[in-house]
Amino acid sequence: MSRVLVIGCGGVANVAIRKCCMLPEVFSELCIASRTKSKCDALAAELKDKTTTKITTVQVNADSVEELCALIKAYQPDLVMNIALPYQDLTVMDACLACGVNYMDTANYEPEDTDDPAWRKVYDKRCKEQGFSAYFDYSWQWAYRERFEKAGLTALLGCGFDPGVSQAYCAYAKKHEFDEIDTIDILDCNGGDHGYPFATNFNPEVNLREVSAPGSYWENGHWVEIPAMSIKREYNFDQVGQKDMYLLHHEEIESLAQNIPEVKRIRFFMTFGQSYLTHMRCLENVGMLSTTPINFEGHEIVPIKFLKALLPDPASLGPRTHGKTNIGCIFTGKKDGKQKTYYIYNVCDHEKCYQEVASQAVSYTTGVPAMCGALMMLTGKWTTPGVHTVEEFDPDPFLAALDKYGLPKSESYDPVLVP
Ligand code: NDP
Repeated sequence: MSRVLVIGCGGVANVAIRKCCMLPEVFSELCIASRTKSKCDALAAELKDKTTTKITTVQVNADSVEELCALIKAYQPDLVMNIALPYQDLTVMDACLACGVNYMDTANYEPEDTDDPAWRKVYDKRCKEQGFSAYFDYSWQWAYRERFEKAGLTALLGCGFDPGVSQAYCAYAKKHEFDEIDTIDILDCNGGDHGYPFATNFNPEVNLREVSAPGSYWENGHWVEIPAMSIKREYNFDQVGQKDMYLLHHEEIESLAQNIPEVKRIRFFMTFGQSYLTHMRCLENVGMLSTTPINFEGHEIVPIKFLKALLPDPASLGPRTHGKTNIGCIFTGKKDGKQKTYYIYNVCDHEKCYQEVASQAVSYTTGVPAMCGALMMLTGKWTTPGVHTVEEFDPDPFLAALDKYGLPKSESYDPVLVP
């Protein structure tokens, strides 16, 4: 029996909320709070006769700590699931601390305004010291560690698929398969086809920022940064087939490098079709990915926000998408003095996801782990006070929950390695 406050009602939150409502014995009361209340109301109305979870809805501006605190004090939740955007991570964490509530999210903090001089100063210093230039990193949220610990509260960061399940796979490999892990390759393949010439599978602004940034990987104790999309590999994915994939910077590399310090190399690859890349390069070249406001006929416009308004809403892709995703980790390392390799992954079918929760697999593979992470926190399995990433907790009950609630693992002890 618990009360949960969900912030955000977009593609991922929709899946997480629907899955929570399938477990009313744990998620007995749920408040959906987001910027556009009509979206929360529409979802609540749809779920009303399908669940005994008591759902309420409310409008909130999650950029305002004051508004969030008023809402948390009024609703008194056991947990706040922040499934809005990475821009709101710090305000929601501040409100959770002020009100004494546990916190979780699905992506690490990045600022909405990357031209903000105060943020830039810290960012420029971090780029120089750390050696990677992505706009997001864990330092902002790790800075809350001591405060959460002292308050006896738990903050679970990045509990989607990647980040999220990818780190649970690493913890699982470390616990059961290896004495020592040498290399980790995280492979994220989306073999889905939505039929549009160009669309993103989750929030376009966050997605396009991520894939247009320089790539980087962790090797022998430091970051190696490369121009965007300059390392390409081909891989034959189980149930999907041969795909081109590109090395990207990704947030879980940063926490894994700290939490599994013996690892010599950690890389992240994501598949992209040629058409997607051509569109993206063109949009970037003409300035449509910029976050800097411009004045257009007397109106201030942020190009990437305008682009978001033109592109298909990721939530609308569900009924059109067919094909499968395949996301997982390939490890090399040693067990009992012998070299070994291991691949753990999940295959998810876009159409089956749509039949179950009216959403495509990218939102599904993020929303289900968010629900399972909340389940771990609410049932006393992941409760260490402080600010933690997924690999810091016992992976077994989490992977068992994923097996049960829609994202079962597959394993191979003889995978083809990525050169
Ligand atoms: P969407 O854009 O579909 O949804 C975001 C939701 O947050 C919307 O309902 C939006 O409201 C709401 N929101 C935005 N700003 C505010 C605000 N200031 N106050 C209140 N509500 C706000 O995004 P997704 O569902 O695709 O993504 C959600 C999160 O999941 C993101 O952080 C994303 O980075 C992360 N993610 C993580 C993945 C993983 O594997 N770990 C993979 C994919 C996504 P409105 O409806 O008004 O726009």
